[in-house]
Amino acid sequence: MAGIDGKVVAITGASSGIGEATARLLAERGASVALGARRLDRLDVIAGRLRDRGLAAITCRTDVTRSADLERLVTRTVTEFGRIDVLVNNAGISRISPMSALDTDGWSAMIDANLRGVLNGIAAAMPAFRRQGRGHFVTTVSTAGLKITPTMAVYGGVKNAVRTILEGLRQESTDGVIRTTSVSPGYVRTELAESIHDLELRERIRQNMADFAIPPEAVARTIAFAIEQPDDVEISDIVVRPTRQD
Ligand code: NDP
Repeated sequence: MAGIDGKVVAITGASSGIGEATARLLAERGASVALGARRLDRLDVIAGRLRDRGLAAITCRTDVTRSADLERLVTRTVTEFGRIDVLVNNAGISRISPMSALDTDGWSAMIDANLRGVLNGIAAAMPAFRRQGRGHFVTTVSTAGLKITPTMAVYGGVKNAVRTILEGLRQESTDGVIRTTSVSPGYVRTELAESIHDLELRERIRQNMADFAIPPEAVARTIAFAIEQPDDVEISDIVVRPTRQD
């Protein structure tokens, strides 16, 4: 099965930014999409606009830190559309700060959403993928794990843990049933800076986003590129960053 048309894709963090752009692009290209995030009102608006255009979209309130929520997202997707071809583990937060700030709550929040959230997604979709004999995990990682910068030690570390897990899963899945893709974006113009508590840092990241970030649609196209490959072609690891990012 190649292409996007006819595929069933569940996306976490679909209420804004990269997840929203991905949901829209995939639906426009013929996928049936299931949108998950905590802000159900925003999901319903996005999905409603897609349905108004005759496209297939459902919503499911999903907090990725809760394994039961991911199980519900997968179950609802399969119940509504008959199967699940792709899970885009995209939800994430960026409570970045210098290590010296000892923001242990922020560290835990990033571990819970950005790492445990991905594991919860893998655990929820893996049985369906195995049952179907096919399935694809796409995960939004980050260039913060490739070029380590001050204030992003824990964020980048957590993202690299996810990259490692996806590579381990890839190596355990060479029977051809499961594909894995890590997409590492650089600066993307989204709402991500809102999760930064340090006001000065938040302003600096916002300024970088305004100065040179790429639009979330650029990452959505990258995700679509990985999904549209034939089943025997796996785009394992891909970086998409602003041309002007150092
Ligand atoms: P946004 O803040 O615009 O989107 C984040 C999404 O994640 C929202 O839909 C939010 O929805 C959701 N989310 C956050 N926490 C949870 C949770 N506990 N459960 C479910 N959903 C959650 O930022 P981006 O689009 O930029 O972020 C998407 C991904 O891209 C993240 O993993 C981020 O780390 C990664 N990334 C972003 C970069 C950038 O420069 N923007 C660069 C590299 C990677 P809601 O609040 O409704 O739950």
